[in-house]
Amino acid sequence: MAKYTESKCRLCRREGAKLFLKGERCFKGVCAFEKRPVAPGQHGMSRKKVSEYGLQLREKQKCKRIYGVLEGQFRKYYEKADRMKGITGENMLSLLERRLDNVIFRMGIGSSRSQARQLVTHAHFTVNGKNVNIASYSVKVGDVIAVKETKKDNKYFAEIKQMKVGAMPKWLEFNPETLTGKILALPVREDVDVQIAEHMIVELYSK
Ligand code: SF4
Repeated sequence: MAKYTESKCRLCRREGAKLFLKGERCFKGVCAFEKRPVAPGQHGMSRKKVSEYGLQLREKQKCKRIYGVLEGQFRKYYEKADRMKGITGENMLSLLERRLDNVIFRMGIGSSRSQARQLVTHAHFTVNGKNVNIASYSVKVGDVIAVKETKKDNKYFAEIKQMKVGAMPKWLEFNPETLTGKILALPVREDVDVQIAEHMIVELYSK
């Protein structure tokens, strides 16, 4: 499976924004973007006037990197969103939010989307009682997501059991004691907490 191999912090510096790709480290005062908020490379400090196309391109790259999705798959999300009723950009974000790796992250089981993705691909979860190890699996309303019985006693999940549930997106429910969560509704735009101007991505792809 293809994946980004570039340093995560470099991606934040390239996009000129904190993308929160490293979990707790992003909040600990050791953030590379806070220390050096310029693009990486020799010309990172130079200020160039960015075209409209350039801005749209950057917005798309930012969104892809936040969700850890590569170009081909990202374009498929756009095309699917475009075929759906409603606002294409909002549909696209909703589809991205419904990825199983994102859901695990949003439930607080993983400290970053990439860690959540690793937990999923290492086959730690069931959806409606069936093993699912596909990070892009798209959840539906009513789906029950649980840590596999055989994994519940491992050290990582034993710590999650002690976790206090923080502010949970209203479309999700998670019970740390039983290590089980549920999809209560499909996410809408106000449930998406990433700073993305999705209309710019739609404009880019509609050209
Ligand atoms: Fe980005 Fe987090 Fe690295 Fe800061 S610490 S640059 S937010 S990945």
